[in-house]
Amino acid sequence: AKNDGMRSSMKYKDSPEGDKECSGCVQFVAPNACKVFPGDTEISPKGYCVAWVKK
Ligand code: SF4
Repeated sequence: AKNDGMRSSMKYKDSPEGDKECSGCVQFVAPNACKVFPGDTEISPKGYCVAWVKK
């Protein structure tokens, strides 16, 4: 499932932003979830959004 509302408001994308990607973010929950995207089970480790914070 995807949390389309949060994806839109946080400008999520399935590709990295430079050297910033979900796998390096403190909010990421391996393998495919994120603490700030409730119910979303398809977050890519190679994704990115504006809530990125270095792990
Ligand atoms: Fe979640 Fe955004 Fe961090 Fe990715 S970059 S893990 S979607 S907060």
